[in-house]
Amino acid sequence: MSVGGSQAHAWIRHRNRALVLNIIRRGVRVSRTDIARDSHLSLPTISQITQALMLEGMIEEIAVGPSRGGRRPVLLAIRPDYGWVVGMKVFAETIDVAVTNYLGELIASREVQTSTNEIQHVVATMAEIVKAFSLSETRFPGNCLGVGVAVPGTVSQSNGLIRNCPLGWREVNFRELLHSALGLPVMVDNDVNILAQGHLLFGHAQGRQNVIVVTLGRGFGLGIIIHGEVYRGTDGAAAEVGHIPWRPTPIRCECGRNDCIENFVTDRAALLHYRELTGVTEPLTIEGLRALCGQGESAAVKVFEAIGAEVAKAIAILVRTFAPEVIILSGEGLGAGPALTETIAQKWRQYCPEESYASVQWILDSWDNFHWARSAVSLVFDELTFPEVFRSLRPGTAHAKEGGIR
Ligand SMILES: [Zn+2]
Repeated sequence: MSVGGSQAHAWIRHRNRALVLNIIRRGVRVSRTDIARDSHLSLPTISQITQALMLEGMIEEIAVGPSRGGRRPVLLAIRPDYGWVVGMKVFAETIDVAVTNYLGELIASREVQTSTNEIQHVVATMAEIVKAFSLSETRFPGNCLGVGVAVPGTVSQSNGLIRNCPLGWREVNFRELLHSALGLPVMVDNDVNILAQGHLLFGHAQGRQNVIVVTLGRGFGLGIIIHGEVYRGTDGAAAEVGHIPWRPTPIRCECGRNDCIENFVTDRAALLHYRELTGVTEPLTIEGLRALCGQGESAAVKVFEAIGAEVAKAIAILVRTFAPEVIILSGEGLGAGPALTETIAQKWRQYCPEESYASVQWILDSWDNFHWARSAVSLVFDELTFPEVFRSLRPGTAHAKEGGIR
């Protein structure tokens, strides 16, 4: 694709706009001089961008900061009441819903049961949820700006196509279906990519360049941030780390193979291992097993230490491949506590020498039930600032392939 001068300018304009807006979001209250320092953009360019953002209502001048010798700087902040955004995470029998203001602060959340995973039913349920919020919630500021949806599996985020999802959805244009039902902007992505995107906007990856996000729980997931952007690979199929070949087992993974790493590290693997060790046949939930581990019950501790050892090896491979600044360990699986998390933290280091990877920072994510759904709003924020239509132009790529941008 040839990227002409006007398209390249549009790309640069939107990219700079996103850069400025994200610095304001990160800094909470920042001056134009602060933005110049962090963005390396000129003050006239920053003034032009902030003027436009103020006219659109996304940011506001909120206070006068302390003087540093010259004129006292005016501080800029995100306007929380610019509008509200809905984030949703789809599970097998439920949909988690989070509503935030434009600052990303949670203003409502709920869990909704779904009677079937049939796609039309799930889309209709989501549309009802958003319409009910629009009608009944007078405390929400402004208008609904859009809906972000997190689904497990392979998603082509640029066009909203779900290629392959464990809920049984294949080649479904989810974005189009939900957009037709709602008439609002809709963004869809793989759930762990969304978690990584959320960390870039609100969390531990703010201002970072290279980060890996590893999730434990129902699945074993990975989000990759390279040069400050989530890396999705061709057709969104990158980072499917749960199904990398590990060792053969007698059990079959949901993908049909018997040697995936998920057979060793997921909730299902933990329950199977515990039954094998103890011979217990009574019903046991994963929450129950995590609680036993927290109480120090020896077989439960052994199960999560074994998982920790496998995850540590996988993380060592990822660290040696990507050399991240930060590893974020996340997911509901962290509820097993130190038997799991400390085993991982200690063991991955054994495979990655200090002299090469001393600066890698290790972060345990604080987890709550609406973490996934809340992260999904970041897709909408991103689309509002740097729309996919411009993002996908990537003049840098055109430059390499076609000899420059006019
Ligand atoms: Zn598999």
